[in-house]
Amino acid sequence: MGSVVLSVDAELAWGFVDHDTPPADRVESGRRGWRTLARLCEEYDAPATWAVVGHLLEDDCDGRHADHPIGPGWFARERGEWADRPDLTRGPELVERLRDSPVDHDIGCHTYAHVEFGAPGTTRAMAAAELERARALMDEWGIDGRSFVFPRNNVGHVDLLSDYGFEVYRGRRPVERRSLPEKLATVAVGDGRPPLVEPAVDDGGLVNLPASLFLYSFEGPALRATKPVLGDPVVELVERGLAAAADGDGVLHLWLHPNNLVDDAAVERIEAVLRAIDEHREAVPVETMADVAARRRPKRVR
Ligand SMILES: [Zn+2]
Ligand SMILES: [Zn+2]
Repeated sequence: MGSVVLSVDAELAWGFVDHDTPPADRVESGRRGWRTLARLCEEYDAPATWAVVGHLLEDDCDGRHADHPIGPGWFARERGEWADRPDLTRGPELVERLRDSPVDHDIGCHTYAHVEFGAPGTTRAMAAAELERARALMDEWGIDGRSFVFPRNNVGHVDLLSDYGFEVYRGRRPVERRSLPEKLATVAVGDGRPPLVEPAVDDGGLVNLPASLFLYSFEGPALRATKPVLGDPVVELVERGLAAAADGDGVLHLWLHPNNLVDDAAVERIEAVLRAIDEHREAVPVETMADVAARRRPKRVR
């Protein structure tokens, strides 16, 4: 029997800190999307892995970050354009919301300030600083997070993760050779399945649980054109993935950002996905990344 995992890149505006022009709808949807998603997870009793950008746990911040090896430029927006918008860069009460949830969420980590570990300019010192600060804040909060998600799934400095107490990360999805129109076409003809993934364990015991499907990759005109006829193709792919997981052993690993919930259509989609997960839960258990890691790690010999 397979399982389904939902991981959430919980970052407010940090995902756009290095963009020239952050998309206003995404930036402004972070908080509302977070609350909506948390509420829907409760409604459908779906525990998720929330990979939280560590900076959100800060109570206060002057935006200087003078001792961060990435340099002050990374935080220029926090000090400038977003200086009077701490709601975009901090969110302790949002994390509190998850801890208080009746659903047993897995609170993990998405770096400290969304530094892209696999980017060529990201040094080991920068990555280590990100992990160190995030872990220190999690310790302060008493969050025993073991799950890690790389910004943009750009894997890098992976050997540092276990030094900072992480046991599982989300790897890149297996290579998908078909183009978007081809994928939509296969959905239409009835053979499109998001790949199920298998967790892999490296020599150090670190678990890689690759992504299967980003829930907001089919956007714009292609979706608007197909939705009235076929229903939402993403929900259709999830349904097919759940059917495959019921038959096999793989993991259907879905992911999104709260700030993807920019409008009613986006909320409808995640609600339909959570409803489908709920309807299949007897055949396809809902797990978190931490659950998968606990299940797949080699047992220690006593
Ligand atoms: Zn700051
Ligand atoms: Zn991110």
